[in-house]
Amino acid sequence: MNSVFDDLVDQEHITEILQAAVAVSRTGNDSQEMTHAWVFTGPPGSGRSSVAVAFAQALICPNNGCGTCDLCNSAKTHGHPDVEIIRTEGLSIKVEEVRVLLTRVAWAPSMGGWRVVVMEDADRLTESAANALLKAIEEPGTRTVWLLCAPTLHDVLPTIRSRCRHLQLRTPSLKAVSNILINRDHIAPDMADFVARVSQGHIGRAKYLATNESIRSNRKTIMQLPLQLGSLSDAFRAAQTLIDLAAMEANMFSDERDGKEVEKLQEAYGKSAAGRGMATGGAKAVKELEKEQKSRSTRMVRDSIDGALLDIATFYRDVMMVKLGNTDSMINTDMRKQIESYAANSPAHSAIDKIEAIMDTRVKLVHNAVPLVACEALMCLLAHK
Ligand SMILES: [Zn+2]
Repeated sequence: MNSVFDDLVDQEHITEILQAAVAVSRTGNDSQEMTHAWVFTGPPGSGRSSVAVAFAQALICPNNGCGTCDLCNSAKTHGHPDVEIIRTEGLSIKVEEVRVLLTRVAWAPSMGGWRVVVMEDADRLTESAANALLKAIEEPGTRTVWLLCAPTLHDVLPTIRSRCRHLQLRTPSLKAVSNILINRDHIAPDMADFVARVSQGHIGRAKYLATNESIRSNRKTIMQLPLQLGSLSDAFRAAQTLIDLAAMEANMFSDERDGKEVEKLQEAYGKSAAGRGMATGGAKAVKELEKEQKSRSTRMVRDSIDGALLDIATFYRDVMMVKLGNTDSMINTDMRKQIESYAANSPAHSAIDKIEAIMDTRVKLVHNAVPLVACEALMCLLAHK
């Protein structure tokens, strides 16, 4: 029998617990035994939300999450009345959104099973939003299950996390990522190995790289930056390149999608029918949407700058490996020669210092530093032998 849990990569330790919970959820009698609030943590790309969605499917599917029935499919595609998947593309989840959500989930499940709420980015709840959610988690309806996802437990308000059962995902092994790309996505083995290695176990990123040549070429440009830092003016140029490429990557997604969304909204307000609908509220709604889109695009640019910085960190990590004579575990094997010669000409500790500088910059960016300025400062540090 198929199971939605079979699609999860390298998470057997969690699958067992969830399958046991699904068995408990079937026992009927007022569901006293069921855990009503869960928090899933794991590094980006480990598949936190895939785990949560699979669990939601298993709870509402009569076959414990077969992955093939109508209920399983509808749960995954926002088509099931009792499964809410909250996926924010903005920088935060606001208290108003949580209040609206709470009114929706206050009802008993319409199909008699469970009402499941998956919140993919619980770390993006504002404090007031988290407090609004807290009451619902403290006193969940008898048939409601909350599934929160976040990078780490520290990203969730202590009052909330203390009421949740916590499950930690592990970063999938490179072999597991490469296998799933080969078997599920029909990627050629060489390419699958390469993208699994450079994505460091991030399944989504690996697949994206494997299937998108311009993104691979952007990455190549980024990976050359540490080798081009001869002077301070090089450093400023490198920072600009990094920001430009990150923006380009983010815009590749948003442009098309933003336009489609506005069009759809205008249609809903009857733009074509003499424009009257647009006058009564439509223009305001479009404005709201454009504001949301702007915040989403800010987030995407930031995410892609962060990805580029992590890529650059793998360069210095490899330099360290070369210094330690441990070249078997190199990530950027395609740059082996360049990395070896860089390592030969740099002082022993400098790679570690540079990795630290990159990590500091990532933290600054999380705290809303201006991306170009933060990257310029970083590149100047990296230019220093
Ligand atoms: Zn099913």
